Amino acid sequence: VGVFERVDQALLERQFIRSALPTPQLDAACLEKLGATPQVITISTEAGAKPLRCFWNVRERVAKSGGEIVFGWALFEWPHLFWEAQHHAVWKRPDEQLVDITPPAAGGTESTLFVQDDDLVFDFEWQRVEETRRFPLADWQELRGYSTYAPLIHQRRELVAPELQQSDRLLINFLNCERSYKEALLVRLANVLSHEEPCFCGSGSEFGGCCMAKFS
Ligand SMILES: [Zn+2]
Repeated sequence: VGVFERVDQALLERQFIRSALPTPQLDAACLEKLGATPQVITISTEAGAKPLRCFWNVRERVAKSGGEIVFGWALFEWPHLFWEAQHHAVWKRPDEQLVDITPPAAGGTESTLFVQDDDLVFDFEWQRVEETRRFPLADWQELRGYSTYAPLIHQRRELVAPELQQSDRLLINFLNCERSYKEALLVRLANVLSHEEPCFCGSGSEFGGCCMAKFS
């Protein structure tokens, strides 16, 4: 029987998906699902590079400074819930060093955990929506429901002009559904995590001394 039933609204607004930390568990999962273990790549952004535009950022950098574009997966996590691999590109400098020049869109980031995959070449001509793969860490109905909406929201945002998104009923509906599942997820997390376990927010603190106070 759950102890917590409600979540503080400010906590609900927070973004919990962050750059993944290197762990033995994640190494093993990447080897199994993506065929290689990840490497830590320093983020060093520059003026003109835009978030979520890694392919174009790197292409421009190569045209300006040489080197190569390297394709692969950037790894993200929501601790206790899932890992996520997003199609990504980094810059191989002329001295062979890999650098992530794209400003991060998620929190917790001085570096990117990256799995190189030379088969993931981005098609600049057709610009297909980049693939994201999510590896769940819990088999929960709330998590499956929540995970349904991120790709739908992403696709809808690509289709609808930015100035019309605020009033797009389908997009609003998707966002509301995702939010309801997020709330259910947070309540369930609060009810299964012990005080001593690391918090789901990625702070590294124990749940009991961190976000637990935000539930009632
Ligand atoms: Zn926390």
